[in-house]
Amino acid sequence: METIKKVVIVGGGTAGWMSAAALSRVLGDKVQITLIESEDIGTVGVGESTIPMIKLFNAVLGIDENEFVRETQATFKLAIEFRDWGRIGDNYMHGFGIFGQDLATLPFYQYWLRMHQQGKAPDLENYSINRMAANAGKFMRADRSHGNSPLGDIVSAFHFDAGLYARYLRRYAEQRGVRRIEGKVVDALTRASDGHVDAVRMENGDLIGGELFIDCSGFRGLLIEQALHTGFEDWSHWLPCDRAWAVPCELGGGLLPYTRATARPAGWQWRIGLQHRTGNGHVYASKFMSDDEAHALLLANLDGRPLAEPKLLRFTAGKRKQVWNKNVVAVGLSSGFLEPLESTSIHMIQSTIARLISFFPDKGFSQPDIAEFNRQCNFEIERIRDFIILHYHATERNDTPFWDYVRTMEIPDTLREKMDLWRTRGRIVRVDNELFAEVGWLQVLHGQRVPVAGHHPLADLMAEKEVSDYLSDIASVISNCVDQMPSHAAFIAANCAARQL
Ligand code: FAD
Repeated sequence: METIKKVVIVGGGTAGWMSAAALSRVLGDKVQITLIESEDIGTVGVGESTIPMIKLFNAVLGIDENEFVRETQATFKLAIEFRDWGRIGDNYMHGFGIFGQDLATLPFYQYWLRMHQQGKAPDLENYSINRMAANAGKFMRADRSHGNSPLGDIVSAFHFDAGLYARYLRRYAEQRGVRRIEGKVVDALTRASDGHVDAVRMENGDLIGGELFIDCSGFRGLLIEQALHTGFEDWSHWLPCDRAWAVPCELGGGLLPYTRATARPAGWQWRIGLQHRTGNGHVYASKFMSDDEAHALLLANLDGRPLAEPKLLRFTAGKRKQVWNKNVVAVGLSSGFLEPLESTSIHMIQSTIARLISFFPDKGFSQPDIAEFNRQCNFEIERIRDFIILHYHATERNDTPFWDYVRTMEIPDTLREKMDLWRTRGRIVRVDNELFAEVGWLQVLHGQRVPVAGHHPLADLMAEKEVSDYLSDIASVISNCVDQMPSHAAFIAANCAARQL
């Protein structure tokens, strides 16, 4: 059995450099890490909105957060705003963090449902510090010095420049001994005995060998697909969007502490504000809209002057049949793709790396380890897929053939079961450690008007006045806290303003 001494990472996008940084940090000099990338091929160049777990990743690397924000022109993200999804004119947010304060027996939202169904409680957002702060354009980091104050419940992520993040991680990884090779990989040499990849061949003829290969080559899946023919499970019948135009523009509309996702006739448009520019993209289904129409719609809906020519990206929703096959682990776009509606791709890079570290091979490869690794990867992406499908399927829109299709299409059983549970008594069940918690599902189910007939019967045991006082206390404490918070722009200016470019 071979000992893993050499790890070769093919690809230097976000996935490649996150892998190199994390493995060099955790494995130290136990292994020699080489990363190959090609400036001629370049990176996908998008991927700017994240979810809070990215903070964990940076913390493991020991990165100072203010320095990271400055270096990547980042801003803070408290929520995603969804416009025009359930109906044209609708507007709701999916905020990170908790809602209200749970009581001993039931989650907070069951009491809110009871009162809201009788028209005696305002909308859900009043009970979330993240959502109220996002609405007000405010931001600060969680402050736990005031006991139970909602200021301790603020949960945030970042919007950042993906190119700058990769550069930052490259410096970090190279300082820890990662060797970088510039050049194109032309093919992979596999062993006749077991089909493992032995080495990759560079355009100049050099062979780069190793025992473990991490495929971060993007959509092309150079090793996992082109060399090992692992196969791909196509989910485009549930997620028909297959293209995006992306373009940065000048800042306009202020430094919003949230991502905006506006539904369009055959997809949706993102707006991600950074310190030096705004990232925009129009994700659409080519079956329902032409490239020219999608291009024009994007340019007609920018906050400022475009700073480059829009770039067209093509993709297929789905996943690789095995993320780990033989001695190749796919990380990033090579492992599968879900559109960035809930900003989950970079998170899946992070969780795949964490999983690889948990199951890191030592002497040879253990099939049970690989099987469990793949099971966990499948579970994660399938549950995120369901959550994203919900945004399309839970709509009253029938104004275009696209919305008609997604509203009426068959959905996965796992999603149907979740929606059925909600419809009767507003129950939301988080299965195992799926990524999105009950409050994430709650906000989208409610925000997109999925009807709910009742609430948990135990919520009726408390006297109405008590419930009503409990709700209004929470809303007023949150509102007072938000009043005390600085604006997002003021927070950045005081703590982590980037260099002006
Ligand atoms: P890439 O960036 O494509 O990098 C591939 C690397 O492999 C490059 O360095 C390339 O040079 C190298 N390479 C390829 N072939 C060869 C070869 N033959 N020889 C040598 N090197 C080679 N994620 C989020 O979390 N949030 C978002 O808001 C978000 N928005 C997105 C919007 C769109 C439209 C798309 C398509 C994706 C988005 N993502 C988002 C996903 C995110 O962009 C990716 O997860 C992330 O950038 C990782 O990409 P990657 O490193 O896997 O691939």
